Parts: sequence; structure tokens; C-alpha cells
Amino acid sequence: MSVQSESPVWHPFTQHALQAEFPEIARAKGAILQTASGRKILDAISSWWVVTHGHRHPHIMDAIKRQCDVLDHVIFAGFTHEPAERLAQELIRLAPAGLSHVFYSDSGSTAVEVGLKMALGYWHNRGEPRSRILALEHAYHGDTVGTMSAGARGVFNEAYGPLLFDVERLPFPVSGSEQGTLDALEAACRDQAVAALIVEPLILGAGGMLTWPAETLTEMKRICERFDVLLIADEVMTGWGRTGTLFACEQAGITPDILCLAKGITGGSMPLAATLATAPIFEAHYSQDRTRTFYHSSSYTANPIACAAALANVGIWQSEPVGQRISTLSTLQSERLNRFSGDQRFSSLRQCGTIAAMDLACGDPGYLAGVGPRLYDFFLERDVLLRPLGSTIYVLPPYCVTAQDLDKIYDAISDAAELVN
Ligand code: PLP
Repeated sequence: MSVQSESPVWHPFTQHALQAEFPEIARAKGAILQTASGRKILDAISSWWVVTHGHRHPHIMDAIKRQCDVLDHVIFAGFTHEPAERLAQELIRLAPAGLSHVFYSDSGSTAVEVGLKMALGYWHNRGEPRSRILALEHAYHGDTVGTMSAGARGVFNEAYGPLLFDVERLPFPVSGSEQGTLDALEAACRDQAVAALIVEPLILGAGGMLTWPAETLTEMKRICERFDVLLIADEVMTGWGRTGTLFACEQAGITPDILCLAKGITGGSMPLAATLATAPIFEAHYSQDRTRTFYHSSSYTANPIACAAALANVGIWQSEPVGQRISTLSTLQSERLNRFSGDQRFSSLRQCGTIAAMDLACGDPGYLAGVGPRLYDFFLERDVLLRPLGSTIYVLPPYCVTAQDLDKIYDAISDAAELVN
């Protein structure tokens, strides 16, 4: 069954003039979405990169049900609750050493927005106001005004130009030119107005699934430290095992000053985000002077049901061989990607842990490449959910996906090349 265009629902990142029908998903389990009429669709992008362990993991579902029996929600200003307290302890234990405080919000965008505000608040409260943010070319950090500002300028935000603040953009560390990025960072950091550098560690997501080396991140942290510039790691996509380690920063051996987490934090079951900060950032906001308060909240901050889901996610990491699954998936991805090496129809084969990507040679780069929606439709007709970024096709499945599922996905990708012949 499909819902037709007379529906009042306005969908995200969707041009309704070009899409009139929306398959109605009635159920989901593991890597499979099922429509109301029983059609099964393979979720090869983990429903926008959130579903890590597969849909409806029983531990997460049980935890949500148990929490529903005791506490649904409570204002988090002035009160606390056990799921939020326990989860904060767990996040601090799991995150790179040195992060000591956890601020909750509801989405990846808010996790980053909070991170940017913390950075500016830190300098403001120290009496050395700084306003400049450094970010990478092609970056995507979310759709709120602050995060759009940090993101690359382009189709996602060009209508909102008057709202956006100026960000200094560093060249993306393309393979072989990493030193150029580091030199640009060093030059930019000489400006005393620079508050923070924000990056998506090891792989840029919506900007095109572009990979970059952990060593460059290590060097970036060193430069930031030398010039007293804060480093914000946006691990909204990369967190929770996506890049092969629990957090991508681990591969660079660094602790960012601010770490933004969302998406997989609840295993993809409930909206929740967390922004972790070091003690100096918390302390800059800790004062008898009420003007130094961190003035940010949303009504659903630290929703107990979402926190319970996140605790169950952490529990799964402890009780199940998630690391092993991730390493098997990474190997399976690389084997299938290798099938395309030397295939002229695809270029820039790349992988970062469980994420694989390639560009379909169509002479039309960019998010609005005409082939993008045609690819989407082609895959969906094959019962595979892939959502290419223009001509960039990426596979970002739940960790429970099987070798046979991956074969189905990559067969569809191979056949999709016919769309540009
Ligand atoms: N940051 C990164 C790196 C992301 O990939 C995304 C979403 O894709 C966001 C932030 C925004 O997250 P959300 O869509 O949950 O607001």
C-alpha cells in the first residue's frame, strides 16, 4: 500500500512535486522493512544511518516497554532520573578519556548545535569572546541554523543565507594533500578569534561519503591544542561502531573537547542525542553568576524512555559480539566493493569500517545529479533501500545484515549502471 499525494504529511528532504507516492512501512525486523501489503525491503542505509543492531532488537524493545511502566517523561531542568544518570556514566566510561560531562538533546543537529554553543559559551564565559568556527569543505552537520552554518554552503542551505553565520572553511584533506589542510588549519588558528574546529572524523557523510585519514585528525588535534582552539568531533554518523571502532576518534588516539553523538545511540529506536564535554568547558559555565548558565534546552531533554533505549544499546555492546559483527561486515563490504575495482562504470571506491561508497560514472557530480532519484527508484523496485547522494552510491547497513543481503544490494548496484548507458 502507498499513501498518495493528498496526504497532509510534509516529508523531510523530499520534493513532493516529484514524489507522489510513499510506500507505507507497517513493520520492521532486523535489516528488513515490511510494507502494509507485505512487501519486504532491505534497509541498506539503516534508515538514515540510525539502526545499528537491526530493527526491533529485543533488548531495546524490552527496555522501552519496562521504562514505559514507570516513568514516561519529566522536565529535566531541576530534576533527574535514573536512566539519564546511568547513561551518562556509561557514555563517559565508553568515550575517549577526558570527557566528563554529558548534555542531552534529541537529534544529531541539536547535539552539534549544543556543541557549537558550548564552544562559544566557553570563550565568552572566560572573558575572551571568540566567534570564529573552522569547518571542513563538504561538511554536513545538520539542519538547524547553527549547524547549517558549519556545513558547506550548497543546495541544503542556500535559501537561508541571511540566517547563517560565517565559517572559515578548510580544504578537505583529499588523499595526498592532507598537509595542505593542516597548513590551512595552522594559518587559521593564528587568528585569536577562532573558537573551535568542527569535523566529522574519518568520513564526511552527507557531503559525499568522503574518507580521510585518522593521522590527519591526530595532527589537527595537536594543532588545535598548540593554538588553544577547541576541537568538536561530530560523531553523529560515525559513532557506535560505524567506522570499525566504537568512536572514530579512537583511531586517531585523540579526545576531542566536545563529542556529539546521536543516531545509533539508541540503536536507532528512539530520538536521543548527547553532547559530551571536558571539565574545562563545564567549569566555564559553572558559576554563582547566573549569566554564565548554559542556556539551552528542549522540552524532551533526556527523555527517560529514550535513555532506557540507549542503555539497552550499551548493554548489547557488552553482551553480544558487536565488535566481531562489525569486523565481519567490514570484510564483507570490502570483498563486495572489490568486485567493482577496474569497472569503468564506477570510480572512487572507498570504505571506512562498515561504510562503503562509490561514484557512478555519469558526468554529473553533485547532490542534484539527475541520476540520483532514478537510482533511488531503481533500487526500490529491486526492494533495496539505498538513497544515493547524487551519483554517489553508499551502503551503510545494520550490523545484522547477511552476506546474501549484501550480494542482493551489490547486484542491484551493478545493474544500476545501465541507467547511465
Ligand atoms: N551530523 C552528521 C555528521 C550527520 O550525518 C547528521 C545527519 O545525517 C547530523 C549531524 C544531523 O543529525 P539529525 O538528522 O539527527 O539531526
